[in-house]
Amino acid sequence: MRVAMIGTGYVGLTTGVCLAELGHDVVCADIDGNRIAQLRRGILPFAESGVAEMASRHMTRGRLHFTCDLANAVAERDIVMIAVGTPKGAEGEADLSFVRNAARQIAPAIAPKTVVTLKSTVVVGTAREVREIIASERGALDFWVTSNPEFLREGSAVADFLRPDRIVIGADDHDAAQRLIQLYQPLLREGIPLVETGTTNAELIKYAANAFLALKIGFINDVADLCEQIEGDISAVAQGIGLDRRIGSSFLAPGPGYGGSCFPKDTEAFAATGRRHKAPQPLVETLIVRNEKRKRGIAERVLRELSDIGNPTVGILGVAFKANTDDVRESAALAIVPILQQAGVSVRAFDPWAQTKAAALLPSVAWHDDPYAALENVDLGLILTEWEAFRSLDLARLALSMRNRILFDCRNLLEPQEMPRHGFRYLSLGRGGVP
Ligand code: NAD
Repeated sequence: MRVAMIGTGYVGLTTGVCLAELGHDVVCADIDGNRIAQLRRGILPFAESGVAEMASRHMTRGRLHFTCDLANAVAERDIVMIAVGTPKGAEGEADLSFVRNAARQIAPAIAPKTVVTLKSTVVVGTAREVREIIASERGALDFWVTSNPEFLREGSAVADFLRPDRIVIGADDHDAAQRLIQLYQPLLREGIPLVETGTTNAELIKYAANAFLALKIGFINDVADLCEQIEGDISAVAQGIGLDRRIGSSFLAPGPGYGGSCFPKDTEAFAATGRRHKAPQPLVETLIVRNEKRKRGIAERVLRELSDIGNPTVGILGVAFKANTDDVRESAALAIVPILQQAGVSVRAFDPWAQTKAAALLPSVAWHDDPYAALENVDLGLILTEWEAFRSLDLARLALSMRNRILFDCRNLLEPQEMPRHGFRYLSLGRGGVP
């Protein structure tokens, strides 16, 4: 099939490249000329395992193209996917201005019988709104607007796209649904479950799924707090909970509060949708407040540890919102570092992939090329991202180079029993029963 992808961010680019992998002819369009120029030279705007290799292969085969010319991109395409950003807007509502602009830009150029599909995470009613925008420009043109939310995760985006738990197709018209089913046929043939429904349900599925996953994180964080008070161990409790198949073991690790480009904005948009339609979502409303409080709480705990130390320095390990990505949007580090700095703490930091992006947002941090340099002469080491490499830190080496041996491990990566041997005061989350 001939597909146009509008927007070449994490979702648009990964989806475009993966659709080429499935055998389709894909043109990816973006209004960011610099981004398109780089992509044509094989340079990605983000780090995501596997995407660059696949992109280069399909560009060479002539199945993947990049352009800034949106009109040209969408003309004579079977499917036009919109994958632009939907950031947080006023009052927690999703800011749909990029989606609306994209709709206005493609409207004059789409061919009759085009299926326009919303890959972006959008609030209920957006497919209908996009239909109206295009119809107001093209009058009697025969076209469809559908919803096909994306569930891929940064860090495992290619695998998630090619082996998803399900594909959700929201269409209010049978022929439009069939077009999308044909697009995904190579995956559906492998037995990937399909949820075929209307656009309203598809739009709600995406928000409800993200809100539910965020609730799991918020819940386990609260249970971890309880464990600390009662000498409990959150890893045993999470294992005991997660083996119940009705619950499942993923998203049951305590941490410094969820972040990233999706959960914070999507929970807020979900709650705002509830308020707007007079069906409030109090669980999610509470979660949003607690999650922000958690990030502040981590910073306050660090400051308490440093209260007797003059001119304290903290070394941060990990500024990406999670491991295996360079994305720092709404990461714990972005919330915690400014609080520490305002309290007079000097901050050094290391992240394997995310330093360049974080440096633009955290200007007064001293960046280092490896974890040991970042923790040299610091009073407290603070692990914020669950990078695998941090599990095997050489504690003897750290003990010699840190000024004060305090480690606060917000991802429970290290073994508490090892700590006293190296003279560390060790703090982690939900491990009340360990030294
Ligand atoms: P992003 O910010 O990384 O990329 C958006 C891209 O769209 C940018 O390159 C921007 O230049 C481009 N763009 C904006 N307006 C445009 C226009 N009119 N025409 C062409 N290009 C335009 O966004 P993202 O992280 O890929 O997210 C996109 C959508 O997918 C969001 O709604 C997000 O919630 C959703 N989503 C994201 C993830 C994720 O892990 N990042 C996962 C699932 C769903």
